[in-house]
Amino acid sequence: MNKTVLNRFMQLPQPENQIQAMYVWIDGTGENLRAKTRTLEFVPNNVSDLPSWNYDGSSTYQSEGSNSDTFLYPVAMYRDPFRLGNNKLVLCDTYKYNKKPTGTNHRHSCLEAMKAAESQKPWFGIEQEYTLLDMEGRPFGWPKNGYPGPQGPYYCGVGANKVYARDIVEAHYRACLYAGIKISGTNAEVMPAQWEFQIGPCEGIHIADQIWMARFLLHRVAEEFGVVVTLDPKPMQGDWNGAGAHCNFSTKAMREENGIIEIEKAIDKLSKQHLRHIQAYDPHEGKDNERRLTGRHETSSIHDFSAGVANRGASVRIPRSCAEEKKGYLEDRRPASNCDPYAVTEALIRTICLDE
Ligand code: ADP
Ligand code: MN
Ligand code: MN
Ligand code: MN
Repeated sequence: MNKTVLNRFMQLPQPENQIQAMYVWIDGTGENLRAKTRTLEFVPNNVSDLPSWNYDGSSTYQSEGSNSDTFLYPVAMYRDPFRLGNNKLVLCDTYKYNKKPTGTNHRHSCLEAMKAAESQKPWFGIEQEYTLLDMEGRPFGWPKNGYPGPQGPYYCGVGANKVYARDIVEAHYRACLYAGIKISGTNAEVMPAQWEFQIGPCEGIHIADQIWMARFLLHRVAEEFGVVVTLDPKPMQGDWNGAGAHCNFSTKAMREENGIIEIEKAIDKLSKQHLRHIQAYDPHEGKDNERRLTGRHETSSIHDFSAGVANRGASVRIPRSCAEEKKGYLEDRRPASNCDPYAVTEALIRTICLDE
């Protein structure tokens, strides 16, 4: 498609009181996003100004054809970095014909947990790793018949033989900033064509809302470049790193003087709930993470819980600086790149803050 022609139309003046709102939601895979657009005859200031809507759930693996109306409830609103102006992106959660949450709506119960733990002021920061693929499904920039040189020079690399498709990373970073997402950084990863962005710290439910919208922006930006984003936690077998979504976590008590005691208490609770967390950390109850959490390539074994200061081979790591300052946060390295951050953060809150 010719973007110069498209730009002629995107520059047409837009009527002042007609804005485009693109509603975005998680489909029945629990992993992929869907979106559709409507015109609103006013400029919304707040997510509560936005009408609820519906869609055909039988086309998104979310209902039977005979009872297919599925509801969209707006939960967060962002500026639209593609259509600009007053146009909006609207993150929604989804409800069945009987107004019960759909099977992949993990936001509903996550929000309940976040409300119950609100007084502990839980903060999260998620490191979203991902891999870029060409239209043949091969990691972007990899030789057609063969492999790039072994891992080593690529992490945080610079140069045309070290990193591939930086344009997508740059475009996505600016799109997030424009939209109002709290993106805190990016870096090239250990496997070539693999990258990371970080969101946070954000309190409570906002971290997962922002990760989902940042994922949407990533898929949408890559689409412009004719490149595909995969969140598969182990896209290439062999001596290639997998992709995770490390979840950094703290409560108010952990951030205060001698918070390290609270961090250690939390790690003790986590050690007793390893299975609950593994089941919550990918959309297939641990099946996807089995390929990634091998104990090699900077991961821990899926079968055991471990923790340590500055240890990237542990389930949970205490950053060196936090051990030195005796306060700060912990890093749960187990979540897979394709995890649902609502399920991940809910599990952390229930285990650490609610003692469930
Ligand atoms: P790594 O060294 O593991 O690669 P990164 O710099 O990629 O770490 O990511 C660190 C993440 O931790 C960021 O998302 C940041 O927002 C988050 N973070 C920093 N401080 C806190 C805190 N007190 N509580 C929770 N998350 C935090
Ligand atoms: Mn990181
Ligand atoms: Mn990383
Ligand atoms: Mn990390």
